[in-house]
Amino acid sequence: MSAPLLHTDIAIIGGGIAGLWALNQLRNLGYSAVLFEREALGSYQTIGSQGMIHGGIKYALSGALSSGSETISGMPATWRECLAGRGAVDLRGCRVLSEQFYLWSDGGLQSRLSSFFASKLLRGRVQHLSARDYPAPLRDRAFRGQVYRLLDLVLDVPSLVATLASRQREAIFPIDWQRAALRLDSGRATLALPQCTVAPERLLLSAGTGNESLIAQLGGSAPAMQRRPLQQVLVKHEYTEPFFAHCMGGNPSPRLTISSHRCADGAPLWYLGGDLATQAVDDTPQQLIDKARRELRALLPWIDLGQSQWRTLRLDRAEPRQSSLRRPDSAYLGPVAGVDNALAAWPTKLTLSPDLGDALVAHLRSQQIQPRHRPDFSVLGTAGSVPVAAPYWDTLFS
Ligand SMILES: Cc1cc2nc3c(=O)[nH]c(=O)nc-3n(C[C@H](O)[C@H](O)[C@H](O)COP(=O)(O)OP(=O)(O)OC[C@H]3O[C@@H](n4cnc5c(N)ncnc54)[C@H](O)[C@@H]3O)c2cc1C
Repeated sequence: MSAPLLHTDIAIIGGGIAGLWALNQLRNLGYSAVLFEREALGSYQTIGSQGMIHGGIKYALSGALSSGSETISGMPATWRECLAGRGAVDLRGCRVLSEQFYLWSDGGLQSRLSSFFASKLLRGRVQHLSARDYPAPLRDRAFRGQVYRLLDLVLDVPSLVATLASRQREAIFPIDWQRAALRLDSGRATLALPQCTVAPERLLLSAGTGNESLIAQLGGSAPAMQRRPLQQVLVKHEYTEPFFAHCMGGNPSPRLTISSHRCADGAPLWYLGGDLATQAVDDTPQQLIDKARRELRALLPWIDLGQSQWRTLRLDRAEPRQSSLRRPDSAYLGPVAGVDNALAAWPTKLTLSPDLGDALVAHLRSQQIQPRHRPDFSVLGTAGSVPVAAPYWDTLFS
């Protein structure tokens, strides 16, 4: 006897920010949607991110603002609406680590920065600070650079993931691929599980790097995926001032990006990214740690971190393939070639999740897919048992 069919409007595979955002936005609009996660919610990129919700100014430094930069420039305001409970997704309860991000120059880029930030394009989005408004880590007589404040937000990502998950517990299920498979039937994808076959109007693949093999399972030749690897540095220390800042050096991309977090035992932690992380992919952890120590000594010599412990973390950023590994400018949503009802999604940045959600809703409306099915998800087993991934600063130091 064949397994019963469970018709649903949307089935989502992968519970990082992309899948969780889509699940929330679609269910808020009345669609029946169900999400399957094989590990913990937010695993890999989302839990490894620095939590910056930014307006793209750091990218705009590399040249004229592109259309992608225009999309991204509205994102901090969109997220603020969601945090206040007025957006497409309700983020009330998510912790905000900082309401602003700082950008400082190490000297070399100073004149270019000041003329760029004075331009009409960026008026109101960047503020040049006088010394009394500097963040604590830059308030030292030896500091020589310029400091700007950006209207960017920093979120506590574990609480972001937990907030999104808590609103839709009854629609989130574990998946064990030893006992599940994607099937293609007359051009339409279904998900075969031991207890039933899920037949969605649309199947959304939002599994980050996992999308590559899911697309292959469906026999899809496109979209192709690229990975942009990086190696971040984590420093657990005793300096208690939080710091959320980019240091601009001679490149248009940040030389160093610092975000502050707290480990489960309460100890402060700096998470270091920027060029330090993207240019060190092939370094051994020890080489990179030595480099990071030198960077902090060169840029912030007056800061004493006290007793410190260092770790590095390699991660791949998953994105649609671009020529020459360029950074994609906006969230990606596209059909899986050869499958009538499957879509692949890569937000490309945490920040662009609302853009991805809106693209998905626009797609459904353009295809005249309205909320229709009323499935009983209880046949799928116990909902709500998928945990939220632990932050890397808790797993790497334990
Ligand atoms: C170090 C780092 C720092 C970053 N910092 C920022 C930042 O500050 N601001 C910003 O805007 N962006 C940032 N980004 C980018 C951002 O994190 C990503 O664009 C975003 O998190 C991608 O989310 P995702 O849901 O597509 O993928 P992921 O977060 O990777 O989630 C994929 C999920 O799918 C699950 N999965 C995988 N395969 C399967 C399968 N076969 N079946 C079921 N589930 C599966 C995984 O377990 C995981 O839970 C950063 C990225 C990195 C790597």
